Amino acid sequence: MTDIIQLLPDHVANQIAAGEVVQRPASVVKELMENAIDANATSIKLIIKDAGKTLIQVIDDGKGMSATDARLSFERHATSKIRSAEDLFDLHTKGFRGEALASIAAIAHVELKTKRDNDELGTQITLEGSEVITQDIVVTPKGTSIAVKHLFFNIPARRNFLKSNNVELRHIIDEFHRVALAHPDIAFAMYHNGSETFNLPNSNYRQRVVNIFGGKTNEKLVPVEEETEILKISGFVGKPEFAKRTKTEQFFFVNNRFIKSPYLNHAINSAFEGLVKEGSHPSYFLNLTVDPKSIDINIHPTKTEIKFDDEHTLYAILRSSVKHSLGQFNIAPVLDFEHDKNLDTPYNYKDKSQASAPIVEVDRLFNPFTEEKSSKGFSSVSYKKEPAQSWEGLYVGLESKGTKTEHDFSALEFESEEQTASLFKDDKHVEDTHSTYQFQNKYIVSTIKSGMLMIDQHRAHQRVLYEGLLKNMTLKETISQQLLFPLKLQFSSNEMPIISQLKEDLEHTGFVFSGFNDETLEITGVPVNVQESEVSIILEQLISDVQQEVPDSNFSATDLLAKSMAKSLAIKTGQSLTRLEQEHLVNSLFACKEPSISPTNRATFITMSVDDIDKQFM
Ligand code: ADP
Ligand code: MG
Repeated sequence: MTDIIQLLPDHVANQIAAGEVVQRPASVVKELMENAIDANATSIKLIIKDAGKTLIQVIDDGKGMSATDARLSFERHATSKIRSAEDLFDLHTKGFRGEALASIAAIAHVELKTKRDNDELGTQITLEGSEVITQDIVVTPKGTSIAVKHLFFNIPARRNFLKSNNVELRHIIDEFHRVALAHPDIAFAMYHNGSETFNLPNSNYRQRVVNIFGGKTNEKLVPVEEETEILKISGFVGKPEFAKRTKTEQFFFVNNRFIKSPYLNHAINSAFEGLVKEGSHPSYFLNLTVDPKSIDINIHPTKTEIKFDDEHTLYAILRSSVKHSLGQFNIAPVLDFEHDKNLDTPYNYKDKSQASAPIVEVDRLFNPFTEEKSSKGFSSVSYKKEPAQSWEGLYVGLESKGTKTEHDFSALEFESEEQTASLFKDDKHVEDTHSTYQFQNKYIVSTIKSGMLMIDQHRAHQRVLYEGLLKNMTLKETISQQLLFPLKLQFSSNEMPIISQLKEDLEHTGFVFSGFNDETLEITGVPVNVQESEVSIILEQLISDVQQEVPDSNFSATDLLAKSMAKSLAIKTGQSLTRLEQEHLVNSLFACKEPSISPTNRATFITMSVDDIDKQFM
């Protein structure tokens, strides 16, 4: 028998390695930008075409390479950054594996131009799938330019696996942000399809954060500074009232390297405990400096996780310094006699607990053992079934600023006697006209002839709002309320295009825009029953929904907008509802075209038949 084991040819080995290093265009962006930083560049330009599918180019003014180094840089395990295994434990560079360029060259067309400061002429090398095609002497400025074209040209499966341009571009921008945030002293610019998307002059950390995330960020930053023997912390956390629905503004850098750490993230969240609403995430931009010997970043070529020697201590220091900063800047309650009450709870936290007070009253009317109609004066009341209008009434209960839910009911407009499709009236399979009961501030329980109905209040209301909004948008029936003063909102340069793309649909829901420029949005009208204070939350949610959407052929901006707004405006889980609100919601739900599922295809209610229940008692 002959031997069967062979060594893989280099280009195959490189392709396999590439699978680990290069998942998508954003991975190339990360590697090239990190190389530029390791080369001590002071200015780095990133040029992208078609979300990196056609071109990714990074141009730096760093130290450049000699002709021999340029050639060697594409060999696997070729690195100038470590010489021995010991060096791994004292890393001061981003790269060290000597794998990135070899991997990239294995799966793309690459053009490198590079020149060192003191050299007269530079080197140009082109490669296709690990193979050197040309090598020339060229005139080129000091530094290095690497252009990566036709990514995955020789691995069609990988190429087809790439997401839409929007999604890939989003990943690229994320990487760009991470690198740019870690190095405020370096100037960065990014161009996509010929237009400038970011231009970040070298600056201090605060300015860098503001340049990336938009002018309004400045006022929300609270500095965090701490220096101990094992850890130095510097950076910012966002004030609690600016906490976001998404985790897009959460950044940890350890020794200037972006990392993800659920554990340290937990430390921050616990410092914010009680200050931000559930489901909101505080922003943070924190730089941690530790002894390179105390961390291990050598876990995976692209992973952003690292191992710390003494995680528990880091956790404790981080948590207490963030708490301290929030206290010091009067954001969290502290023992301070001059304490400004307005700063105490600058979010609707208090109102939330008030709203859940009247639960006991709800219980009283619910008696599953009697057939008797409850006669608490509701029996003659019926409600409009039209979803587009009924949600306005429902929404009243959501008004936060100190108004009590019950009082707002005077504003509800009822239609007398005549009504259709109500689950509670004239409907033979309904036993008790007004037996709804709110359970756990989450479900509305009701009896129907055949058994029991349990409705998820949040999903049900989403359905009601969603159909109403869609109707408004398709019929272009706009009802909007004029604001006394125009509302100015700031967005970052990558958020703004999303809003402008949805402008027309937003207008059909009732938004009136009077100004649209790079960063500022001016609004003079909002949909009926949307509070001015909620506008930014709605738009933020919308932006994050669009960003997370993976557009496919069924993608409809109108639908997405309706879903997103329905989600923002719907009654939340945990909100206590009066009897009237409960019934109104149930009626509105069953007046919908598709009452049984939420806009995101989740069940809005479940039924339990008497049989099912009987069986449980067998
Ligand atoms: P690593 O960064 O892990 O060393 P790479 O494959 O990314 O591996 O790069 C290989 C080598 O090529 C680097 O060690 C460095 O010496 C050189 N190099 C890569 N990019 C640049 C650049 N932009 N400027 C100068 N040298 C570079
Ligand atoms: Mg590298």
